[in-house]
Amino acid sequence: MSAAIPTGGIWVVAQHERGVVHRGTLEVAAFAQDLASKTGATLSLVVVGGAEARGVADELSRIDVAGVLLATAENLAFYDPAPWTDILARAYDRYRPEILLFPHTYQTVDFMARLAQRVNGALIPEVIGFAGGSLGEVRWRRPILRGKMHAEVRVKQGALPLLASVQAGVTAADDLRAGRAAVETLALDGPVAAPSRRSVRIESSSSTASDLSSAPVVVAVGRGVGDPERLGPVRDLASVLGGELGASRPVVDAGWLPRELQIGSSGQTVAPRLYVAIGISGAIQHLVGMRGSRCVVAINKDSSAPIFQIARFGIVGDLHEVVPALTRALRQRRDSG
Ligand code: FAD
Repeated sequence: MSAAIPTGGIWVVAQHERGVVHRGTLEVAAFAQDLASKTGATLSLVVVGGAEARGVADELSRIDVAGVLLATAENLAFYDPAPWTDILARAYDRYRPEILLFPHTYQTVDFMARLAQRVNGALIPEVIGFAGGSLGEVRWRRPILRGKMHAEVRVKQGALPLLASVQAGVTAADDLRAGRAAVETLALDGPVAAPSRRSVRIESSSSTASDLSSAPVVVAVGRGVGDPERLGPVRDLASVLGGELGASRPVVDAGWLPRELQIGSSGQTVAPRLYVAIGISGAIQHLVGMRGSRCVVAINKDSSAPIFQIARFGIVGDLHEVVPALTRALRQRRDSG
């Protein structure tokens, strides 16, 4: 077996859903490439899963990393914190990475703390940036007080390994450097811990459920729409842009759109290439869920709405006029070639 995975350095623990790489994995890999080049550390990717994980590992081997570690076993077909923690802890014991990075998702948040405890590591969730020198001295930036402030934190001397989850949109997946890495399979001495629950199948929570966190275009609607009967033109705009529909909390609280479409501190975090905010004021609890977006377009009748402070393009006007006009113009453009 060739030694693709170096000892120490940085690991990115990939997330995938039944063999499809989660977009956050690519963003964290890009983030980690930057960290590796600034600290001079090696970077490896780790893929955990059942039979489908082999394809994921092959796909990720086209990224510029030292190697891809495939940690696979029969009882890993469905995500479960017990075997995930166990196999990652055993991989850790074998290679002793100093930093383990994860996309900040429900899944990783579910097992990261257990893994930190198992490997006696430090834990920093929701990282949004870093600064500093060697791996042990890096200062990690993360939001506190529901995003009102940022804190810079550093692990105590000698407290590595560090496990950190990286918020969506911190680094664009487009920034990822391509390469060619070898895939190494983790040798296991003995069975992996049994799942703590029995998963039969995985279903979306509703027919409208979408993975907003990996959508390239999100069209989000706020209380300014005024009436659920008037959501049609917003849906039309989302459709012509090939985007997913999102919402601010009041829209969800009123029952106009389902809960899983809520974006913000108590909803999903999104980082699309294009975010269209329609009738959304731009409260901090909403902004923390979407400010990683590459290009924000805001439509609001109040020119002093805070959303305009983070928007690249702002349209001041009545959304009931602006949205249909925009949709018409985009359709015309699309239809004329
Ligand atoms: P509003 O603030 O009421 O803004 C409506 C906007 O529409 C206004 O700017 C208005 O000018 C504009 N408007 C009105 N009519 C028109 C028109 N005809 N044309 C154009 N523009 C128009 N919020 C979230 O979104 N997500 C969260 O996850 C979240 N979590 C929270 C957690 C906590 C603990 C708390 C306390 C609050 C949370 N909130 C969250 C709520 C948040 O504070 C705001 O109240 C909310 O984001 C406001 O939503 P909005 O922008 O849709 O509504």
